Amino acid sequence: MLGLGIESTAHTFSCAIIKKDGKKGEILSDVRRIFRPSSGEGIHPREASRHHIENSSIVLSECLNEANVTIKDLDLISYAAGPGLGPCLRVGAVVARSLSSFYKIPIYPVNHAIGHIELGKLLTGATNPLVLLVSGGHTMLLAFLNKQWRVFGETLDITLGQLLDQFGRSIGFASPCGKNIENLASESSDYVQLPYSVKGNDVSFSGLLSATKSISKKDKTSACYSLQETAFAMICEAVERAISFTRKKELMIVGGVAANKRLSEMLHDVCNRHKCKLFVVPIKYAGDCGSQICWTGLLESQVNSGVPIQDTFVTQSWRLDSVKVNY
Ligand code: AMP
Ligand code: MG
Repeated sequence: MLGLGIESTAHTFSCAIIKKDGKKGEILSDVRRIFRPSSGEGIHPREASRHHIENSSIVLSECLNEANVTIKDLDLISYAAGPGLGPCLRVGAVVARSLSSFYKIPIYPVNHAIGHIELGKLLTGATNPLVLLVSGGHTMLLAFLNKQWRVFGETLDITLGQLLDQFGRSIGFASPCGKNIENLASESSDYVQLPYSVKGNDVSFSGLLSATKSISKKDKTSACYSLQETAFAMICEAVERAISFTRKKELMIVGGVAANKRLSEMLHDVCNRHKCKLFVVPIKYAGDCGSQICWTGLLESQVNSGVPIQDTFVTQSWRLDSVKVNY
């Protein structure tokens, strides 16, 4: 089976082609163009969608060329149908619908968050993990039970990615800022006390954001260090409680923030205490990409033959715990 996956939920427009053979998947190409807002600014949905429109045809043709396939070779097309920014989602959906209806190829709307998880499982080999999904759009702890992903903790306000990006922008970085903060944090070990807020098994980051902005006026480096230590410790507490509760033997981290080495290091300690194996999605596939969508579409094709074109909607706030996973 040969699939094309299209991702366009937020900053990234990406197309990927994967060849599926039984349970194995080989990524033949994964081409991306990322919208970069100007310094100090966040993603403006209209500008990001314009970026996606302008880049969609070149990304698609590079993706096909790299994989050395033509559209007629494809068995299915999948696209990220949500959650995400409406104008951005619609670009991917329009490209997918046009190709599907012109070339008569089955089409599959895919939940973006499930895409992160399924690609993580393919690439790490985790089989039944507790999942920590930390990205620009999500901060969630999840476990799979009776055909659905169940939430064992999440953010009550902004996501971990938003915390890092909003703080980073306030000290002059251009979004996405996670990598810059990680680099600066590695130069300090000077911890300044910051608000730590875990409620039940949920986390809240907005007070931490304001307080970190305030201490950064004195020292940006120790502010980055203290921010990471505090936010990641909050995540670790929630993860540790969820591991104890679910008794999972695997923890998998996915989403753009999974690229952070300090986060993995802290979670590694948590896992060691509970004899749990840690799986971290490879950095190249941690952030948003077409492969996540493509692989999930290919899995979905095991149990259904696609969706009628008139039902190919996009849904800005499509929660992953509302999706039935039948494959
Ligand atoms: P995604 O929405 O999955 O594409 O993830 C994007 C988010 O990942 C943004 O908020 C980035 O700042 C964040 N990110 C990327 N690399 C790192 C890193 N090395 N450390 C922390 N956050 C990161
Ligand atoms: Mg994402």
